[in-house]
Amino acid sequence: MQSSDIISQSREIHEWIVEKRRAIHRHPELMYEEFETSRLVQNTLSELGIEYEKDIAVTGVVGLVGNGEGPCIALRADMDALPIHEEADVEFRSEIDGKMHACGHDCHTAMLLGAARVLKDNESEINGTIKLIFQPAEEGGAGGKMMREQGVLEDPDVERIFGLHVSDKLPTGTLASKEGTLLAATSSIRILVSGNGGHAAMPHLTVDPVVTGSKIVVELQTLVSRELDPLESGVISITMVNAGSATNVIPSSMELQGTIRSLTSDGITRLQHRVREVAEGIAMANRCMAEVTFPGNDFPPTVNDGECWELGKISAGEILGEECVSEMGSIMGGEDFSYYTQVIPGCFSFLGVGNPEIGAVYGVHHPKFKVDEDALSLGTAIHVNTAFKALAG
Ligand SMILES: [Zn+2]
Ligand SMILES: [Zn+2]
Repeated sequence: MQSSDIISQSREIHEWIVEKRRAIHRHPELMYEEFETSRLVQNTLSELGIEYEKDIAVTGVVGLVGNGEGPCIALRADMDALPIHEEADVEFRSEIDGKMHACGHDCHTAMLLGAARVLKDNESEINGTIKLIFQPAEEGGAGGKMMREQGVLEDPDVERIFGLHVSDKLPTGTLASKEGTLLAATSSIRILVSGNGGHAAMPHLTVDPVVTGSKIVVELQTLVSRELDPLESGVISITMVNAGSATNVIPSSMELQGTIRSLTSDGITRLQHRVREVAEGIAMANRCMAEVTFPGNDFPPTVNDGECWELGKISAGEILGEECVSEMGSIMGGEDFSYYTQVIPGCFSFLGVGNPEIGAVYGVHHPKFKVDEDALSLGTAIHVNTAFKALAG
C-alpha cells in the first residue's frame, strides 16, 4: 500500500478515530478494570469484521488482520487510565471522579482502532499477518508482561513489534525515538521502619521510627550522587511517607515508598541491593528494624532494535515528512512495552501531540493533560505504514 493512500485513508476516518478516543476518555478505567474499554475495542473490531481473542490478561484483546500466515508483526496499544481527577477544560471530560486518561492511552487505543480499520479495508494487499494488541495495565500493573506470558507473541509467532506513545514535549506532526535504550528500568520500593511508640514528651522511653525513617530518606540520596558513575543514570525518589496520627504520640512505625530507575537491569539490581543495605544499616544503628521490599512489577528497560527504529523512522518520515522525525535521548520514564522487546525486536516511539495554541502544554500524568487530536489520524497512518513496511521486510 502506498504511503499517500495510507495518509488519505487515515485522514478520511479522522473524525471516527476522534469519536472513539473521546468515548474512551469519558470513561477512564484503571489497571485490569478496563472492561468497558475492552468491550468498545471488541465491538469495534466486530463491526470491522476483524477476528479477535479477548480476556487475555483479564481485559486484553488481540485482533488479527492479514492472510493468517507468516510473517507476522504486531502493533500495540495500552488501554488503562490513572487515578487522577481531571482538570482539563475539554467538553469530553472524564465522567468518573478521580480517574482520568492522563497518559494518552485513550489516544493509543483509538489510533490502533483507526489502523485496524484502514488495514482491514486493504487486507488483500497484506502479505502476512498483523496482530493488533490492546493491553491492560501499563501504569504499574505490567499488563504487557501478563499478555506476553499468556502467549500473545506466539501462534503465529510475532517477529517484530511497534508501539507509539503520545508526547506533549513534541509538537503535533512530529515523532522521535532512538536505537538502543529509550526508557528506564523501574522498580518500586517499600520500607517499613519499626520502632517502639509512646508519649511524645518522653522520647527516651520510645524508639522513634520517624527520625530513623527521615535519616533513611536523606541517606538514600547519596546512592546516586556518590556511588553511581556520573556517566550512568539512576534515580531514587521517595514519594510517599506515612506515619503517626497525633501530635503528642510517637508512632511505632513509619512507611516509606517510592521508585528507583536505571537505564540497565544490572543498575536496578545494584540500586535495589544498596537501598536494602542502607535502610537496614541505618535502622539497626538507631535501634529500629527496616523491612525492605520491592512490591511492584519491576519493568526492564525499553530497548529499541536498531533495524526496527530505522524502519520506524522511514515509515514515520513518509507520513510526517522526513524533517519531522528526529532522534532523541533516553528518558528515565518506564514502559511495560519493554516486556515485548525483552524477547523480540521492536521499536517504541513518541508521537507529538503538543500544541500551545489549544493549551496542549501539560505533561502526561498532569490533571490538565490535553492532546492535540489532529495527531490521531497521523498516528493511525504511521501504524499502518509501519506494518506494511515491516511485512515487506
Ligand atoms: Zn503513564
Ligand atoms: Zn503511558
